[in-house]
Order: sequence, then structure tokens, then C-alpha cells
Amino acid sequence: MNKILAVNAGSSSLKYQVFDADTFNVLASGIIERIGKEDAIATIKADGVKEKKVLEILDHKAAVAIALADILEFSSVKNLDEIKGVGHRVVHGGEDFEDSVVVSEDAIAKVDALSSLAPLHNPANLTGYYAFKEVLKEARHTFVFDTAFHQTMEPKAFLYALPYEYYEDYQVRKYGMHGTSHKYIAKRTAELLNKDIEDVNTIVCHLGNGASLAAIKGGKVIDTSMGFTPLAGVMMGTRTGDVDPAVFPYLLEKTGLSVDDQMRIYNHESGMLGISGLSNDAREIEDATNAGQERAVLTSDMYAYKIANYIGTYFIHLGHVDAIVFTAGIGENDAGVRARVIDNVSEALKIKFNHKLNSEVRGIEVELSEADSEVKVFIIPTDEELMIAQDTKRLLGL
Ligand code: ADP
Repeated sequence: MNKILAVNAGSSSLKYQVFDADTFNVLASGIIERIGKEDAIATIKADGVKEKKVLEILDHKAAVAIALADILEFSSVKNLDEIKGVGHRVVHGGEDFEDSVVVSEDAIAKVDALSSLAPLHNPANLTGYYAFKEVLKEARHTFVFDTAFHQTMEPKAFLYALPYEYYEDYQVRKYGMHGTSHKYIAKRTAELLNKDIEDVNTIVCHLGNGASLAAIKGGKVIDTSMGFTPLAGVMMGTRTGDVDPAVFPYLLEKTGLSVDDQMRIYNHESGMLGISGLSNDAREIEDATNAGQERAVLTSDMYAYKIANYIGTYFIHLGHVDAIVFTAGIGENDAGVRARVIDNVSEALKIKFNHKLNSEVRGIEVELSEADSEVKVFIIPTDEELMIAQDTKRLLGL
């Protein structure tokens, strides 16, 4: 039986899942954290068993060796030759990739060149690829890009109103992120509605630590909230989301904060954390909001309001919305966030929302709207690894 490995390699972590290429059953899933340290952690779940060990893993090559040894020891995969396809998540595909691709020298060179747009991610993604390629020589490899699904946006949506040469010379434009998740959700929403994806308009709210919304018309993204980088769009756990760029030089002048300091603040000390002064974790914000803590309430209100702004805009551009879908850590689990977001938009969109059901469910695929709601509301747990495996199977014809 053919197997597909889905890989997400970060700078100090490696996540993987092994799928049966026919059924897409997950045969093993694992994560190696703290790569580069003497006390790295390797965890694998397979056949209902969870194994965790702490050991020295100094580089990605060593991490891959551990991952593959664990797969052979704990899962039903008994020979590495069974792994016919390996799909690698790559964060930035720029304008070069509007779909996943089979890895080639040309693709590698382009991913490498795009490192200037994603310096923390693309090099790590390539390191992961090289490490697996060295061991799984016979398997064929694919790249699955976070940005690719958003490449259907038109220039009027993706351009910033800067002088055009900054786009031409430096590729400054909106790219969007979480594309693999948005693509999976768009596909799954059409399945749940029992319609062809071409006939379905969806607004996907991918709300995790990082958060982005996408307006998807007939399976194609027409707009998304993240921009040139993952800092843009809605307020997030620690990121600002959209801010007037003139704030940057103003704070530079008033506070003397350097560019690096400000980038750290915009990326790591803002968002829910910055407003609440409490936490970037939605669970803590939710508890404090329920306890009536003033800045937590403000944080919760702001978070929902900013998301509602995008839903409103996307509703206008889609003309007709079949479904609003919540996904990722917060979207799947945080009933309070979902309720506040829908409360902001339900009158305009004629949504009838089942508040009781919403408060009772989390982490499962479920419809939260009433039967006579004009726009349906769903929770759909995202599955980027499955999407990577499906794309890999499609491209390799397994
Ligand atoms: P990312 O992949 O962007 O790191 P996730 O999609 O894993 O993020 O989402 C992580 C966030 O989800 C956490 O920071 C937390 O705020 C939120 N979250 C997770 N579980 C719950 C829960 N039970 N209730 C509310 N929020 C939750």
C-alpha cells in the first residue's frame, strides 16, 4: 500500500503525518521540537499509542532520522519504500506558484530566491526538504505553498496603492497566508453543502495565534486579510493586524524605539496581549472577559469587531455568501469569539445563529446556524496536513 508523508519543517521544529494514500487514514503523526538542542523532544502518535522522548537532536538531518525510525517502530509502515510521496509545506511561493508542484531544481531555486520574502520560513522549509530527500531517495517530493491558493486574487485586490514600481521592482503586494487551510475549508464546505465548489461562496475565518480571513468565490480566493507579511489584517494573539503605517515613524520620533524594537512590538507584544495586558491566549481572555475584567472585555470586543469588518467587506464583494466558517485554534474552540463575531454581522447577513449549540461544541465539524438562516455558519476543523497529502497524491498520480 502506498503512503504519503506530509511535512511541515520550521527552523526548530518538524511536524509530520503519514497517510495511507488510498484512504487518507492517518497512520502516524509526530512532532520534533527544540531541534538544535540537547533536550529536544520527539513525539509520535500511531496506532493509538503516544510515545514521547527527550534526546539530543542537533539538526534537521538528525530530526528526520528520528522521525523515520519512530514511524517504522510505532506505525504500520514497515518499510520506508512504502512512502511514495512526500509533501513539504513551503510558506512563501510568491507569484511563482499558484498551485502545489512536484519538486524540481527550478522550484528549489525559486523557493530559495523567495527567502527574502519569508526569511524565517522558506530556508527552514528547504532544510526539511533536503533532509528527507537524502533518506527517502526513491520517493517523489512536492512543495505545497501557503500563498498559492491566494494567487487568484486580482491586482485591484492584491496591490497596495504605492508607486507601481515598488510592486514591479520589489514584489511589494498582498500575498496572504494560511492558503492550505483556506483551500481545505473551501473544499470541505462545498462537500458539507453538497454542492460543486464552483457554486459556493465562503468566508473562511482562520483564527489561530495568527489569523486570516479569506473571501472565496466558487473555490477561488478573491481577497484575504493577511498582506505582504502575516502582520496585516485582523488583530491577532500578539500581532497588530492593520495599522496606519504613519504610526511607525511617529512612534520612532516620540519614543526612540528602533525599527527592530517596533517590529518586535508589532509582532509579539500587540494584538490581544497588547490590548489586554494579560495574555495572548484566547482562553485567558475569554475567562477574564466572562469575569468582567475591563480590558479583557475591550480586547474581546475589538477582536470580534475587526473580524466583522472583513466579513462585511467580503460579503459586499462576494454578493452572496453561502457560509461563514470558523477554523483553527480559536475558531474551532472559542465559543465566545464565534458568538461575538456573528453578533456583529448577523443582522446584516440575516444569520440565524444557534447560540446554545455554539456554546456547547468545540473542535468538531458542525453547523451552528438554524435551518432557515440565509447564511450558514460552520465550525470545520482545519487539516493542512490532509490537504498537503491530497495535493501530493494528485500531483504524483498515486
Ligand atoms: P497557530 O497554528 O497559529 O499557532 P492555533 O491554530 O494552534 O495557532 O491556535 C492557537 C490558539 O488557539 C491559542 O493561542 C489559543 O488562543 C486558542 N485556543 C486553543 N484552544 C482553545 C480553547 N479551548 N478555547 C479558546 N481558545 C483556544
